[in-house]
Amino acid sequence: MSAMPAEQIHQQQVNELSAHIIINQIKEGKKKYIKTYPQHVPRASEIGHPCERYLTLSITNWADKKTHGPEVEFIFEGGRAVEELAIKDLEDAGFKVYRPEPDKAIMESKPRITGHIDVRVDFGSGQVHTGEIKGLNIFDWEKLNTLQDFFDSKKPWIQKYPAQLMTYLYIKGEERGFFYLKSIPRFQPKLIWVDLDYSYMEHILQKTERIEKHVANGTMAEQIDNPEVCQHCAFLHICLPEIRQKALEIIDDDELLDKLQKRTELEDGYREYNHLDNAVKNAIHGKEKLLIGDYLITGKWITPKCKNPYWKSKIVLLDPAKINPAV
Ligand code: SF4
Repeated sequence: MSAMPAEQIHQQQVNELSAHIIINQIKEGKKKYIKTYPQHVPRASEIGHPCERYLTLSITNWADKKTHGPEVEFIFEGGRAVEELAIKDLEDAGFKVYRPEPDKAIMESKPRITGHIDVRVDFGSGQVHTGEIKGLNIFDWEKLNTLQDFFDSKKPWIQKYPAQLMTYLYIKGEERGFFYLKSIPRFQPKLIWVDLDYSYMEHILQKTERIEKHVANGTMAEQIDNPEVCQHCAFLHICLPEIRQKALEIIDDDELLDKLQKRTELEDGYREYNHLDNAVKNAIHGKEKLLIGDYLITGKWITPKCKNPYWKSKIVLLDPAKINPAV
């Protein structure tokens, strides 16, 4: 392969540099939307958070809350755009759609929980239902089909969604609302009905009262022991010294630390691979011989001794250079 001429390399570097500068400026432009506002009572969108200390700090120490970066702001903007698409879906279908103004019942609820209802819809029965719209990555969107799936999710922010919707239902005195979920990408719709669960709501109300007491008395709730939640917490910098103190053993091992850091870097790619691998395996299950592009796919039943037979597929890329030109 002949070497690239020097001018061409130089032009490529200039292009990469200018693209980098443009993207940085775009990210800078988003920073003006990232602000922290004073908070006086728990928010419906947060009240399902498993840590009462977090919920208390959100009020008492709102100014210490770590703000998100522009990368997360892009996600929030995308979420707002999805909300508009969802409302358009509902309107296009001919349903009566109401976009509530800040709700008086919510403003005056006791104990106070604040929030903003996304949408209220009459699907034709004459009854208006409160709805919560969420844009979700395709992996999460596929997994959520019942209310229980939200509680079973490993993502702490998905576990919070039922409390948000049920809080609105409770305050408005309604028995039934819905989640309207759109997948990202593909923007497919999914509707999940949610019935108000009074015993779950009782647990949320008691929690809200405990937070109110902490705020009023200047006390602080206990920390939780859940690294999955703490790692995403905007008050981790306040809690970290205590969390470190509680660690059973602190060790100094650069090699292990290096492995842990590399493992973190690879984690997302690994998850995506597994998801795609499962999707591909499902799609080619039972196919004995297939040719798709440059992929040759073969498969057969395998019957191990004393075990159930299973389908085994083999995927061969006939021309790897077409996937990665550098090969
Ligand atoms: S770091 Fe963990 S314990 Fe501390 S407030 Fe956040 S979630 Fe709670």
